[in-house]
Amino acid sequence: MRSPVLSTCLGLGLAVSAALVPSAGAGAPRQPAEHPTLAVNADTKVLIVAPHPDDETLSAGGLMQRVHEAGGQVHVVVLTDGDGYPEGVRFEDHVESPTPSDYRGYGRQRRREARAALARLGLDRRSIRFLSFPDGGLSQLIGRYWSERRTAFRSPYTRMDRPPKSEIIVANTEYRGEDLTQELAQTIGEYQPTLILVPRKEDQHADHCASWFFLMDALGDVKRVHSDYAPDVVNYIVHWYSWPFEDESRELSPPPGLRGGISGWMRVGLTRHQQQTKRAALKEYQTQMHVMNWFLDGFARPNEVFSRPAPVRVVLPRRRNPCGE
Ligand SMILES: [Zn+2]
Repeated sequence: MRSPVLSTCLGLGLAVSAALVPSAGAGAPRQPAEHPTLAVNADTKVLIVAPHPDDETLSAGGLMQRVHEAGGQVHVVVLTDGDGYPEGVRFEDHVESPTPSDYRGYGRQRRREARAALARLGLDRRSIRFLSFPDGGLSQLIGRYWSERRTAFRSPYTRMDRPPKSEIIVANTEYRGEDLTQELAQTIGEYQPTLILVPRKEDQHADHCASWFFLMDALGDVKRVHSDYAPDVVNYIVHWYSWPFEDESRELSPPPGLRGGISGWMRVGLTRHQQQTKRAALKEYQTQMHVMNWFLDGFARPNEVFSRPAPVRVVLPRRRNPCGE
């Protein structure tokens, strides 16, 4: 049997405590598994990097409430409008062959849903920023569409090659990797979060995997200007085989076959009220509930799980796409 351990991550008000699970001998009653947890307080400034509208609520709808209730600050940056989803657009618009205008309208709808979801969590409109990069195209910006050496990526859905003017932070931004890094770096530099939540690079959706690389590249840029800036970077995961929607248990278990980074899987518990509020926030994503309510429901549990990656330096561009698309 291993003894319980307690470790503390200093500097950012994050306490990590772990009680390790005793191995069950023959006939021994199995002890409930416990995981380290992410503690937050009034000094916490969390930035959630969401590849698509809904990822922030799926992964951290409970954690966002905890930070807000503790008096901390919550900010969400959504990299794409989630507009590259033909099945969803066909369902919403009742059309067989959606037009670019249909896809753009779908993206605007998803942005409205994101604002409504965050309002449910008690957060105002200033808590969310949309970068409106191409849904389904982020991983290609890591290498092939990195710089001005070639024309910008054009979404096969919306036919756009840059975000709408209203969403551009850095002048002349187009769908290029270096532009996305700059916009993210600008967002981080302005807000200076103490805690950043971002998808794991192992997430099986290429946009999610790419989000990790862009965040780490942008952090490198920020640190070149603010050398003492050291936020706590924590991972979440949304797409991993049939996890978690085929798991019928009440608790959300960590994804099978994935290790919990250097922290071990961290478990954040939700009160009954926080759980109900998270469920209500997810319901605001009507376009997604219509086509995959079973998936969203899989995340409406009494807890959320996170992991802390080992420190690593990421520099883009990459000649080979690390995200498989
Ligand atoms: Zn997503």
